[in-house]
Amino acid sequence: MAASATHTAEKPSVLEMARQQLAVAANYLDLDEGLHSVLATPKRQLIVNFPVVMDNGHVEVFEGYRVQHNLSRGPTKGGIRYHPEVDLDETTALAMWMTWKCAVADIPYGGAKGSVKVDIKRLSKRELEKLTRRFASEISVIVGPSTDIPAPDMGTNAQVMAWFMDTYSMQMGSTATGVVTGKPVPLGGSLGRVEATGRGCIVAAHEACKFLGFSLAGSRVVVQGFGNVGSIAARLAEEAGAKVIAVSDAAGGIYNPNGLPIQTLIQRYSHREGGIREFTDCEPISNSELLEVDCDVLIPAATAEQIHASNAGNIRAKLIVEGANGPTTPEADDILSDRNVMVVPDILANAGGVIVSYFEWVQDLQAFFWEENEVNNKLERLMRNSFHNVLQSMLQHKTNMRTAAYIIGVKRVADATVTRGIFP
Ligand code: NAD
Repeated sequence: MAASATHTAEKPSVLEMARQQLAVAANYLDLDEGLHSVLATPKRQLIVNFPVVMDNGHVEVFEGYRVQHNLSRGPTKGGIRYHPEVDLDETTALAMWMTWKCAVADIPYGGAKGSVKVDIKRLSKRELEKLTRRFASEISVIVGPSTDIPAPDMGTNAQVMAWFMDTYSMQMGSTATGVVTGKPVPLGGSLGRVEATGRGCIVAAHEACKFLGFSLAGSRVVVQGFGNVGSIAARLAEEAGAKVIAVSDAAGGIYNPNGLPIQTLIQRYSHREGGIREFTDCEPISNSELLEVDCDVLIPAATAEQIHASNAGNIRAKLIVEGANGPTTPEADDILSDRNVMVVPDILANAGGVIVSYFEWVQDLQAFFWEENEVNNKLERLMRNSFHNVLQSMLQHKTNMRTAAYIIGVKRVADATVTRGIFP
């Protein structure tokens, strides 16, 4: 379910969530009220309504957004999401989270996000290409290699980025590989980018397990979402010696307390939503049951607000590593903190994607490409450093990991904003 679909006491809108999380950090940092307002507000929000001629000859109008939250630390960076329930508020929240994520990882970007309200399951490949090209053209007025650099997110992939890059390049008159990241490797993509977010999650999981006094090897892991982030996190957890006992996609989950064969599941079913439910050596479970399975590490890697006031008390994992953006509401955070469940927050745990996107952009600008182990080693080092900075901040401020990460991210952005000064 998209984050903004239902706003209730237990599930606030994701923009409310993002602002509450910022307010907690602002309080710790004793942030000036005016500066707090600057950081709580997006710099630019572009809404585009654009027509696409569908395969049946009819014209359909789609609504899309590009939001740039903060440019103090560099050009903005953030994915493009295709989903039927996106809206401007959700896109703004996701852009804000990107700002803090880039700052926590200490890479020279501000945050942005784009989205189109569309159910891609309804589109043919040709329609998807036409929609992407038109959307790219519409938002190209504010996007570019030195201004704002999109990447894949839910519902988009390397092929979509290739169409985006080609469209922008056609408009500019020369190939501009640096305009998007997450491209296919032969078109200026980076080795290691596809796996980067899942790999980063597993680096964070390793470090958090060590801090909690157990090892990822031999632990029981549950993963919600079997797309790019979830399937790769599950595979790398399995390779690290963990037992992945439950996985799911939007259609539901599967559970086997003795462990699931993740490689086989990926090979057989990952291309098709609902496919994993055809696997027989397991029990079917719902997505809500999956979150409450008895395990050591839970990796929500699907969508926002999955862990909320009504189920946070039932979560049995010792550690939650947020592969998805915004999977835990602020109320759930408080409940989990009180129950001593460690949550490695999204702005740290899933930063691997934007870190390798940054590497891709650097490689594109230099037209000089790195070997995969160089990319992975640099990613692992940055993730580990970021994790330990946040851990130190957590211990110093006697708070949870989310607030600790916000204290670092918000402070870096606030300092950059103040040092640059307010124009004119
Ligand atoms: P994806 O489209 O590749 O996969 C999403 C998966 O989640 C699919 O398996 C889908 O079936 C499943 N899903 C959707 N709704 C669900 C629900 N309600 N319950 C259970 N499963 C559900 O997307 P992705 O790129 O893997 O992104 C997943 C999450 O990770 C998103 O929140 C995204 O913003 C975040 N993220 C992605 C990246 C990246 O590099 N791809 C980077 C950072 C954060």
